[in-house]
Amino acid sequence: MNSLESLPLKNQKVLVRLDLNVPIQDGNITDDNRILAVKPTLDSLIQKGAKIIILSHLGRVKTEEDKAKNSLKPVALRLSEVMNQPVTFIPETRGEVLEKAIDALNPGELLMVENTRYEDADGKKESGNDLELAKYWASLADVFVNDAFGTLHRAHASNVGIASLMTHKAPGLLIQKELDVFNEALKNPKRPFVAILGGAKVSDKIGVIKNLLSIADKVIVAGGMSYTFLKAQGYEIGTSLVEDDKLDLATSLMEEAEGKLEFAVDYKLTKAFDNNADIRIADYDDFKPDEMGLDIGPKSLEKFKAILKEANQVIWNGPVGVFEMSNFAKGTEGICEALASLDHATTIIGGGDSAAAAIQMGFKDSFTHISTGGGASLEFLEGKTLPGLKALE
Ligand code: AMP
Repeated sequence: MNSLESLPLKNQKVLVRLDLNVPIQDGNITDDNRILAVKPTLDSLIQKGAKIIILSHLGRVKTEEDKAKNSLKPVALRLSEVMNQPVTFIPETRGEVLEKAIDALNPGELLMVENTRYEDADGKKESGNDLELAKYWASLADVFVNDAFGTLHRAHASNVGIASLMTHKAPGLLIQKELDVFNEALKNPKRPFVAILGGAKVSDKIGVIKNLLSIADKVIVAGGMSYTFLKAQGYEIGTSLVEDDKLDLATSLMEEAEGKLEFAVDYKLTKAFDNNADIRIADYDDFKPDEMGLDIGPKSLEKFKAILKEANQVIWNGPVGVFEMSNFAKGTEGICEALASLDHATTIIGGGDSAAAAIQMGFKDSFTHISTGGGASLEFLEGKTLPGLKALE
């Protein structure tokens, strides 16, 4: 793969695919981390005299009506503040207005194209990797830089399509940083290496559990998916989240694990999926048939902290409880605190819900790395080859 430094950039039209899919409420951006994260790549392109054409997706666009609430215009405004220079926003994904604006670009100037997923409203052209669309976008520029880590696991026209058609191409600095962190952690782990896997479903994380069992020294399984493992061992789990068709799989994973798997020893139980419901803390073998587990209990947190204290490298993906409800956020917060206090260990937070939880709980600057991609970081942890990356080779 080429590096950004090796590309011809001076006076060149450079298409840059970014992941600027930020949460927007009533026109206001509520979390601009993804915008801040691409500044180094844009700074580098500006400094090298590139004419910069930005592509990004935002939300999901299935119909004409979805377009208005998914315009990238507020993102262009915020980006111009972050970059401290104007960003020309073109409210189209193709056409004469866009082409003329690109022709008028001077070196170091920034232009942003409207949401690439507008092309999905009329038959999934962007997410279906439509060749004609990819050819059109590729024709607008001389060079392609992909810095959208969060979409590397997808084969869409704006990443895989364009990359497959262009000769001068490379990942941006954000993707490079994410790759360096994950490759080093998985290929040359600092030991003891502890993985913490939480989140809702075993089925989403089977590949990750298997791959990490082969690399890590301990794998802590918690959150919604841990009840399937409890039930597989014959324990009562009441009305907790469970995937009955994954019980055999859970059993075989526990057999394969050779003692590396670690589970919670107590849970916060309720009779309703409600923040205000009465809470009972009970051991793993003491669930009543009408109770559900929504967080780990204090003994589990102490157990996990003791394991983490010994670690020199931790990768965490998925909350250990329903952190969106304050009464069931303590476990996830406790894991954040435990990781933040590990001075000498490498601490990596996968994207998605665990990253959102860590940032929301005030731990944004407390770890070695918080990934900007949920699905992409999961597929990386599974050991998969990501299509967006392969297309850059
Ligand atoms: P995932 O996207 O698979 O990482 O799952 C994240 C979701 O898992 C979050 O919305 C959590 O609320 C949810 N979750 C974590 N623990 C539990 C639990 N014990 N019961 C139900 N959902 C849970």
